[in-house]
Amino acid sequence: MRVGLTGGIGSGKSTVSTMLARKGAGIVDADEIARRIVEPGSPVLARLAEEFGEDIVLADGSLNRQLLADRAFADERSTRHLNEITHPAIREIAEAEISAAEAAYPIAVYEMPLLVETGQVSLVDIVVVVDAPEEVQVQRAVDRGLNEADVRRRMEQQASRADRSSAADHMIDNGTTLESTQAQVDALWSEWTS
Ligand code: ADP
Repeated sequence: MRVGLTGGIGSGKSTVSTMLARKGAGIVDADEIARRIVEPGSPVLARLAEEFGEDIVLADGSLNRQLLADRAFADERSTRHLNEITHPAIREIAEAEISAAEAAYPIAVYEMPLLVETGQVSLVDIVVVVDAPEEVQVQRAVDRGLNEADVRRRMEQQASRADRSSAADHMIDNGTTLESTQAQVDALWSEWTS
């Protein structure tokens, strides 16, 4: 079985994914794939440099992430261009890795922040949305060291809680304690594996 795990920034996706991994799930992390496809010398990095300026590539060939983020998240059009370059590459690798995880683990979990936005729900059998009130999301992301204005801008560009919940087969309420979240994960795992 393939489970898609999504939610807004700071909602608690990584937290839930760690809980699922401890239960025995195989995790495919879209953010990790997104970092891999822009490694020095990669075709995706070359396309990004064409689109956003050669100076986003540092002298050692690596990506200047902050500069790319500043340019790519400046307006909707730039964000769309970023997504058009990166999302197909992420999707291709994710498809292969989800298949491999499905073969090796009882359940494959695809952790993808933009699962709903990018139409990648078709890669999974079940969609699980991690949910927390917006102010809790912002506070947690800021506590983790992110810039508040960046977090709010990202949230505006991500699906609304309503859009995400309408795509969900299961919602995990991560608005309170980790114990409560763990109990919900335990219940889902029992349901899936019984
Ligand atoms: P996401 O992956 O969705 O961006 P994270 O799982 O990284 O979110 O959670 C954001 C931050 O909030 C992390 O520092 C995490 O430890 C913390 N956090 C997550 N869930 C809870 C919770 N229920 N109670 C307190 N802190 C939490």
